[in-house]
Amino acid sequence: MKILVPVKRVIDYNVRPRVKADGSGVDLANVKMSMNPFDEIAVEEAIRLKEKGHASEIVAVSIGPAKAQETLRTALAMGADRAILIETEEAVEPLGVAKLLKAVFDEEQPGLVVMGKQAIDDDSNQTGQMLAALTGRPQGTFASKVEVDGERVTVTREVDAGLETVRLTLPAIVTTDLRLNEPRYASLPNIMKAKSKPLVVKSAAEYGVDITPRLKVLNVAEPPVRQAGVKVDSVDELVSKLKTLGVVA
Ligand code: AMP
Repeated sequence: MKILVPVKRVIDYNVRPRVKADGSGVDLANVKMSMNPFDEIAVEEAIRLKEKGHASEIVAVSIGPAKAQETLRTALAMGADRAILIETEEAVEPLGVAKLLKAVFDEEQPGLVVMGKQAIDDDSNQTGQMLAALTGRPQGTFASKVEVDGERVTVTREVDAGLETVRLTLPAIVTTDLRLNEPRYASLPNIMKAKSKPLVVKSAAEYGVDITPRLKVLNVAEPPVRQAGVKVDSVDELVSKLKTLGVVA
């Protein structure tokens, strides 16, 4: 079976985002960009499934600017076999991404799609669910364990009340949570090998998908600065302070 892994190029998780002065968005000029961390976990999981003999090919796909080729090369260096970039310089909303992924899904006919539960730049947590709806395939979101068994995949999901296990018929959409695995680093030889792995560049128009934004960002602002805390010398003082602040009666 083939595994499709969508990977997004996002602002690196170590970078402190700066909001543009006009409040129109986050300033990405000269900022380090990397693969979305949940997508690294998805690539790792796909590789592990291939290593266990459940998959024959891993296809990484990204929707983004020309520079997203670097993100795809990272996926190839980790162990993906080939890559598709759907190039656009405009930001694409989750519905647009899901429609493009549906087109790739129809073309590639993967047995499994493994993707991140959310992108750390927009924190939408929507694309996997939308892709499942558009393809009419079952979804196992927030996966902390994935086991393929013949025509099915068993997914342990991290939910508020604990862990939920679902069994899905393939092809299925799985989204990864943080505890699923620890992604490998690409070795230098594999980084070199990745340079010659196939990477095709396409456009949204080639898939006949309209990616015109449907949402308008009104304003982006920094979160309020956290106030400094107060040190207290005793529990009595703490309780009396909390009473003064109205936190306890
Ligand atoms: P989101 O719904 O935006 O939080 O993203 C959830 C997941 O969808 C991400 O972890 C990626 O696997 C995938 N995804 C979102 N946007 C893109 C994109 N532009 N290119 C490839 N995959 C994407």
